[in-house]
Amino acid sequence: MPRHVLTAEFAHESNTFKKGFTVLDDFRSETYLQGEAAIAERGNANTELAGFLDAAREAGWRVSHVISAHAGPGARVARAAFDDIAGQICAAATASRHSLDGILLSLHGAMVTEFCEDGEGELLTRLRAIVGPDMPIAVTLDLHANCTPLMCDLADAIVSYKTYPHIDMRERGLQAGRILEARMSGRSRPRTLRAHRPMLDEINSGRSDEGPMLPLYAKARAAEREPGILAVSINAGFSDADIRDVGPTVTVTYDTLQPAAESRARAIAEDIADGIWAARFTSVNTYLGVEEAAAIASSFDASRGPLIIADYADNPGSGAYGDATNLLRAMLDAGLRNAAFGPMIDPEAAAFLHTHRVGDTVSLALGGKNDPAFGGGPLAVTGEIIHLSNGDMICDGPILGGLHHSYGTTAVLRVDGIDVLVVTANSQMLDQQQFKAFGIMPAEKSVVALKSMQHFRAAFEPIAGRVIVCDSGALSTPRYERRTYRNVPRPIFPLERNTELPTRP
Ligand SMILES: [Zn+2]
Repeated sequence: MPRHVLTAEFAHESNTFKKGFTVLDDFRSETYLQGEAAIAERGNANTELAGFLDAAREAGWRVSHVISAHAGPGARVARAAFDDIAGQICAAATASRHSLDGILLSLHGAMVTEFCEDGEGELLTRLRAIVGPDMPIAVTLDLHANCTPLMCDLADAIVSYKTYPHIDMRERGLQAGRILEARMSGRSRPRTLRAHRPMLDEINSGRSDEGPMLPLYAKARAAEREPGILAVSINAGFSDADIRDVGPTVTVTYDTLQPAAESRARAIAEDIADGIWAARFTSVNTYLGVEEAAAIASSFDASRGPLIIADYADNPGSGAYGDATNLLRAMLDAGLRNAAFGPMIDPEAAAFLHTHRVGDTVSLALGGKNDPAFGGGPLAVTGEIIHLSNGDMICDGPILGGLHHSYGTTAVLRVDGIDVLVVTANSQMLDQQQFKAFGIMPAEKSVVALKSMQHFRAAFEPIAGRVIVCDSGALSTPRYERRTYRNVPRPIFPLERNTELPTRP
């Protein structure tokens, strides 16, 4: 009899500073696919599910895939949305618990719900109540997980991405699947421990392309080759969540059948966590003000590729509103030519532009509608509509390649020399198709301003003449003190820059 494994993907990165809730419709408009439909869309792409299926083929499992549900990073998940998706996973576990050999879950690790701070811990609690303490459960997490002690207690194995930009989803899915297979066959008996440091997040949000984290990821990979060490994960944390268990963690999944593995796992976790702590003052990014960024753009020689300006603070990928206007205003004031800006997430403006035709000249108030205190208020602009679309695209970059994606109702408005991509759906810029599908060719522009912290680098660095990073003052500003934290334990770095470590037992 082949082993029977239940799989599911349920991911959300929750920004507790954002107003409102993430509701079921937000999942439905992003990814909300059951069973075979999920496998058809995601089963052969760079996804955890594809990695789970690789493991299944390798070991000959029978897989029951329940659901793949993702929504763009945003406000806390509403109870009804959480109960719907978690409910489907739990119902499937209840129905098949007598035939199940194991469970594989792709989670984020930074989900906060309307009613609890630890969405993943809550899901695992509900599942354990159904399948009991001995059912093998392996979990993958995003590198930006705020990984809690509860998650480590309830999952046998935790495997997080080791890349930011995230490009190893399928690889990590396979790794988690192989650990689950070893557990189901009795070759190992994994447990996961956790080391944590009092920081809001790793100082460079876990950048794996540059900076002090590079040798730490190398250490983690090397440690995974040691006997009894099954997975070593560095979670940079997610600082836009005002919760008790915020911050960077190192988790090590080790084999309790090997006598020395636990103490070695503890040593590995603390050593890497010490490295994160020691690097807390080392910032890889230089955050420019919007005027400085626009000044660099106005004298930029684009003969070797465009200047890419990343609006770090208004990254929809960390739950910022994506409608901040400060950078666009500075670019317009600087009189830039042959430039692009996107996305401007403004459903009202996108709908208004769709009441006109391509070629029309229109005036409107653009962006800045959610919270003008973070990133600037609405901008009065007049421009020519040069493209109208339903927002659909097939991505082709290293992160989303092959996957269908949609910005919803979308328009391109040319304001002076800047093509502004006005969209409806909340999604950061990380794939060139997010411009190209709407007629904006980034490689042919002199200046491309985009809303993303780090993921854009995978697709845009290869065409860039230069990359600069800007803090527009929007909700995900790296100036942490602009957000009012109430629930994180104090002192914490960098809110208290002289935070000291508690003495270890
Ligand atoms: Zn992430």
